Amino acid sequence: MIKQVVIWPDKVLTKPTKPVTDFGPELEQLLQDMRETAREYDGIGIAANQIGVPLRVALVGRRDGTFFEIVNPTIVEKSGKMNWNEGCLSVPDAWEQVDRAEKVRVRYQDKKGEWHEETAEGKLAHIFQHEIDHLDGTVYVMHVSPLKRSLIRERMERMKKDIKAGVITPPGRKREPER
Ligand code: ZN
Repeated sequence: MIKQVVIWPDKVLTKPTKPVTDFGPELEQLLQDMRETAREYDGIGIAANQIGVPLRVALVGRRDGTFFEIVNPTIVEKSGKMNWNEGCLSVPDAWEQVDRAEKVRVRYQDKKGEWHEETAEGKLAHIFQHEIDHLDGTVYVMHVSPLKRSLIRERMERMKKDIKAGVITPPGRKREPER
C-alpha cells in the first residue's frame, strides 16, 4: 500500500531505527509498501522510518529502476570525496550540496536474512549513504549549515501546518492519500 511520507522535522526521522530480527511476511509487506511509496513519489531510495516504521530497512534505487532491498545495513568502508546536490522525500522542494564519500562498501541482509556485500561508487554510493543515514536518525539537512537548516525547518513547519489545515495537499504524490 502507498503510504504518506513523513516530513522533517519529526521524531521518527531523527531517532535511530531498530535492527530487524524477524524475517517473515511482515518484512515482505513492509518492503512492498516502501516500493509502492517510492514509485508513487518518484524516489530513488526510501528508508522505513520515512513511512513511519522505525526499522533498519531501506531501498536503494538501481539505474534500471529496481531497488536494492537492504536490511540491517552498515557501511564497512568509505573512500574518496564527492559533493552532490541532495534532496529527500521527507524534505520536499529543498536541495542542498552535501559532501559524501565517493565509494562505499556496504554490508546488509536481504529479506531472508542472508548477508551480502556491495561496493558502490558515484551516485549509487551517494544513495546508500543517504538511506543508511536515515536509519541512523540523520536527515541530510544535518549536513548543511545551521543557518540553511533553520530556514529549511521553517519552510517545512509552515508546509506541515498548511497540509494539516487543508490549504495545500501533501507534495510529491501523484494521487491523493488513501484514507
Ligand atoms: Zn531521504
